[in-house]
Amino acid sequence: MRGLKDKRVLITGGARGIGEAIAARFLEEGSCVVILDKDEAGCRDIKQKIPALTGTLVADVSNPIEVEQAFIEMDQMMNGLDILINNAGISMRKPFLEIDPKEWSEVIQVNLNGLFFIAQKAARIMLIGEGGVILNMGSTNGLMGYPFYAAYNASKAGVIELTRSMALELAPSVRVNVICPGYILTQMQKAEYTSEMLRDCEKRVPLGRLGKPEEVAALFVFLASDDAEFITGQYFVIDGGEIAGGLASQSPTKKL
Ligand code: NDP
Repeated sequence: MRGLKDKRVLITGGARGIGEAIAARFLEEGSCVVILDKDEAGCRDIKQKIPALTGTLVADVSNPIEVEQAFIEMDQMMNGLDILINNAGISMRKPFLEIDPKEWSEVIQVNLNGLFFIAQKAARIMLIGEGGVILNMGSTNGLMGYPFYAAYNASKAGVIELTRSMALELAPSVRVNVICPGYILTQMQKAEYTSEMLRDCEKRVPLGRLGKPEEVAALFVFLASDDAEFITGQYFVIDGGEIAGGLASQSPTKKL
């Protein structure tokens, strides 16, 4: 990809899963990468696993005081910021009628409020410097209704609209887009789905399998690169075709 060498990249939730794959890919492109994650042991492990990382920061994106401190430390590590990968998020699988207010707030606090805290801090730094790119982590859950994910769905739909609003206000200095993956096999999926449920998910994906974190990482680096310099305010779905047909694709006529 063009224009990623020596770029300073911050990746939230980068200690494992999709964030880890994104970190590895930006390093391949010659960027400097700092990971921010609330998992302290995970941060230690990832620095050992990927020694080329510029650094790791232990912070909870949903806590504005921890975010403030992390950005001070990040600035000492990289002296600025060119690309933010706003990836940290949590999921909760529960029937709508059983979600209690605390659980609802926790999902919104991390996935939407936390993403906002981080994005605002990053955008302020980028606007003082030479601009930059912000890529927010959405989900196909932000575009379609999925049962048992009311809080998660609502948080990701909020991320999509927040992205559009940011893109309008931060242009032309900062490009802002949102990536909406479908089923990607990570700890998040393994924690909520049995093997049987995962096989069922695969059947619903036209390409016949779950996605890999590395495939999502490839889309992130493209959107952050100069090859995407006319793209802002958009969402990008990477889901093996899962939502292309909606309910219509599950019609019996498919078996003609
Ligand atoms: P994982 O659970 O595998 O990894 C998430 C990482 O983020 C973990 O290291 C986790 O730390 C960290 N994290 C969670 N909450 C916070 C927080 N408040 N502050 C800082 N770090 C935090 O998730 P995935 O890699 O699967 O998902 C990454 C993103 O992609 C999420 O936003 C998710 O919603 C989104 N996504 C994932 C899909 C999938 O199928 N996997 C599909 C669509 C979107 P800890 O271990 O302490 O929890």
